Amino acid sequence: MSLQRSCLYSIEPIGIGSVDVESLSSYITRLADAHCITVGDIMTHLIAPELRKKYINNIVSIGGNGFYKSSSAINGYGITAEDFIEVIASLTCRKDIRETTLVNCRGLVPFRGLQKSGRYWCPSCFQADLESKQTVYERLSWTLQPFYKCLIHDRVLENTCPNCKSCMYILERKSIPGYCAKCYYWLGNHYLGERRVDIYCRNTNDSMRVFFSEFTNLSFERDCVSHSISFYIEKNFEGSLTKAADFFGYSKSTLWGWKEGTNLAPLKALIDITSKLQLNLSSFIKMEKSGIILTDNRINKSLPFERVKKDHNKIKDFLKIVITEKIPYSLSEIAKLMECDRKLLTQRYPNECRQIKTNYLNSVEVKKQNKGEIMKKNIDNAIYTLKKQGTYPTRRRIEQIIGSGVLREKKYRNYWEEQNPSM
Ligand SMILES: [Zn+2]
Ligand SMILES: [Zn+2]
Repeated sequence: MSLQRSCLYSIEPIGIGSVDVESLSSYITRLADAHCITVGDIMTHLIAPELRKKYINNIVSIGGNGFYKSSSAINGYGITAEDFIEVIASLTCRKDIRETTLVNCRGLVPFRGLQKSGRYWCPSCFQADLESKQTVYERLSWTLQPFYKCLIHDRVLENTCPNCKSCMYILERKSIPGYCAKCYYWLGNHYLGERRVDIYCRNTNDSMRVFFSEFTNLSFERDCVSHSISFYIEKNFEGSLTKAADFFGYSKSTLWGWKEGTNLAPLKALIDITSKLQLNLSSFIKMEKSGIILTDNRINKSLPFERVKKDHNKIKDFLKIVITEKIPYSLSEIAKLMECDRKLLTQRYPNECRQIKTNYLNSVEVKKQNKGEIMKKNIDNAIYTLKKQGTYPTRRRIEQIIGSGVLREKKYRNYWEEQNPSM
């Protein structure tokens, strides 16, 4: 009998099959944590050699940010995700690593509009993990672009550290679940404001939860979305592309492309279309009867209007919350969240917008001040990484890690020279 031993602890990914499922990037940070090493160490010494791919190997061993910048791909469905699944599965001797990514959704939706490029989190989830003495980890659902809110706590996901105001990549050399990767500030907290239920999008949290479950757990045939779209255009809109385009709120040519399968409908559109048909994703794929009852009248007249009509109470409430809680949102971000035009906001709510703009600019200013401190920390880290590799921390090598041209700025160059008295 031969016993297979894993190179790394075979810790279990959390919440497999549930809406709470962990992301692969989170799993990697927990692996690093369990072995008391950094994500950077695990990347350089274990993952990169296994991948034996120059593009990752070089970047990871030099320590550049290139790889970390695009680390969201680890949780996706492309080649990077496949490579990481294979390596992590072999390092941990586990067969369930795939479930922490979006590989099931390949062929269903395009890359565009699928994943956020940076790190987002729900402070309530972190806090709940901590207080219930469960493992603190990051959820796969937080990485999806159209998912602005936590599926459990119904609060807006955050992407800025409250302490140093940094935004982060999905994976960083020193990532730790629940903590800022730059200043190590705890990112969890209880939500104290009034509940912001349903202010942000028309889909309820329940329907988003069901959507997420089906989206990540079911397996889909290629072209299934285009077949379903064709089916519903025939069945519910008498085969009229014009009527269907009006109803769904997309241009005829866009809808035509999705129907013919020349383009894949992005995730946001898929959520939108299924919710307007009042169907679950699985029912939509199986082409079950849609619950919508349409009279010709509704299709022709009222719906195009409904499409542009905005719920101003919700917008107003939201602006109020943003102002009172000083959430550092820009107007464009708010417009995106509220699914409306930026212009509409500035024209209809000039006073609110002015205040929001001031808050936002203030936060940008704080961010700028903190940036100096963070950059110095980055220089420290780079010197440390290089010395650990037995490499002399020259200006060129440091810049390969922290970004080219950084040491052109005098204050940073001075700082680097101070840390290297032998220069
Ligand atoms: Zn949450
Ligand atoms: Zn921070």
